[in-house]
Amino acid sequence: MSLVLDDVLISSNPATGAEVDRIKITPAGRVAELVARARAAQQDWGQRPWKQRREVLSRWWQILGRDAGDWTALIRDEIGKPGVEALAGDVVPTLDALRWTIKHGERTLRDVRVGAEWQRWLLMPGARLRWCPVGVVGMIGTWNYPLFLNAPPIAQALAAGNAVVWKPSELAVRSGQKIQQSLEEAGVPAGLVTAVFGGSEVGQALVESDLDKGFFTGGIENGRRVIAGLGARGIPAVAELSGFDAAIILPDAPLHSTVGALTWAAYVGCGQTCVAVKRVYVIGDARPWAEEFSARARALEVGDPARPATDIGPMITASARERFDRQIKDAIRAGARVLAGATSLSGPGWFYAPTVLQAETAEAEGALAGAFGPVVLIRGVADVDAAVAATNSSNFALGASVWTRNSSAARHLASRLQAGMVSINDAVTPTAHAGAPFGGCKASGFGRTHGALGLREFSQPQVLFQRRPGGFRPQLFPYGRSSTVERFLAVYRRVFHRR
Ligand code: NAD
Repeated sequence: MSLVLDDVLISSNPATGAEVDRIKITPAGRVAELVARARAAQQDWGQRPWKQRREVLSRWWQILGRDAGDWTALIRDEIGKPGVEALAGDVVPTLDALRWTIKHGERTLRDVRVGAEWQRWLLMPGARLRWCPVGVVGMIGTWNYPLFLNAPPIAQALAAGNAVVWKPSELAVRSGQKIQQSLEEAGVPAGLVTAVFGGSEVGQALVESDLDKGFFTGGIENGRRVIAGLGARGIPAVAELSGFDAAIILPDAPLHSTVGALTWAAYVGCGQTCVAVKRVYVIGDARPWAEEFSARARALEVGDPARPATDIGPMITASARERFDRQIKDAIRAGARVLAGATSLSGPGWFYAPTVLQAETAEAEGALAGAFGPVVLIRGVADVDAAVAATNSSNFALGASVWTRNSSAARHLASRLQAGMVSINDAVTPTAHAGAPFGGCKASGFGRTHGALGLREFSQPQVLFQRRPGGFRPQLFPYGRSSTVERFLAVYRRVFHRR
């Protein structure tokens, strides 16, 4: 987390309040000039062959891998998550995502031949679909996975031949600075990737600058502001926004292992994970499930992640905790019963007890929608149709999961859910899949990150048609005799449309 003091951002540990670093805010007035510098650097980078881009990315990958231990400690201290989560959920998926881009980037961006179909008879020229750089990408990042949510899209933007000006979250500035330093050490050309530091004013200046594409990760309200600002000037964007993920438990799911997995999926990162499970729909009697959830939630160790026994660290800021607590109270007023937690814990850090709520009706879900903290809301539903309706009733549609021993029932159910990612007997973990595209539907955003679709977000499709010079072509004036159409139609019927 961080504090703004005059022209510096002070990054501090949300578990202890200890200062991690202080970083100078980029004056908003300088952003346009940095974007212009990036545009100039992109002219050369965009023309470089894949091999040269790959060399730079491979060096970057080596440096991030070399520093895996430092990264683990930094993420633990700046974000407040246990080291094991920082390593397994942030550092390793980042390295794997970069590795995917280095390994598959060339093939993904290779020209694709497009056949002329019937019109080859009219000597339609051959076509190639090419993936060209978009130019300058403006990225605005969030803090909860400060490496994984920033480094892979930067790598993909570079792989596709672009320049990047990016604003790390003001709550993870030390991580942002370390990413920037590692890029420079890797030999990324001067000005090609620039980090700008600050809050919404600096983000706004980036949105108003001369960009070719935006890439925003964060909350819905700010995301919509950013998208609207870019859209008003015709600039496309990828929007990776908030989630409110549902898990559907079928009656045959094994109780202990299912609740064990879902407890982790609800509270990983102190529930401050965009795809953390927040809603659990149990088909049938929810009571034994709710009891198991609350027993497990109460057994979790909340505290400073520097202590090895800690399962759950603090929330990121005092204001994030206050906002989250207000939503919990609203959900209780809307009929939810507290089975565990629902209270702040004493600090110095911004701790909150892992919370289990149970509700009989959907009202509490409305109050809790988009909550970003350690809570799971459990509701029993009559059947599969009711579970599908409850899941799809939310405007959030990032991830969803289905828990059962019956694979074919699970796959059928998955196909009825509105979400960018659906997992069967798993949740959260698949987000780290290096090659699978990630992103949401409905209010959770649009566009994708990671894998082939993520890489192509940073590419402009261009179709190149090429014909040999000279030679016969049918498309020539004058059209000639009045019988041309009849002859053409006769040929068309004989060749294409025989009945
Ligand atoms: P946030 O919306 O407060 O901030 C995100 C970024 O936007 C920050 O860098 C911030 O400085 C910047 N910003 C804020 N206002 C701006 C403006 N007017 N113009 C330009 N930039 C502006 O979100 P947050 O607190 O950083 O992150 C939490 C949210 O992010 C949660 O809702 C979570 O679900 C979501 N999230 C989504 C994903 C995903 O991949 N879909 C991943 C992580 C987090």
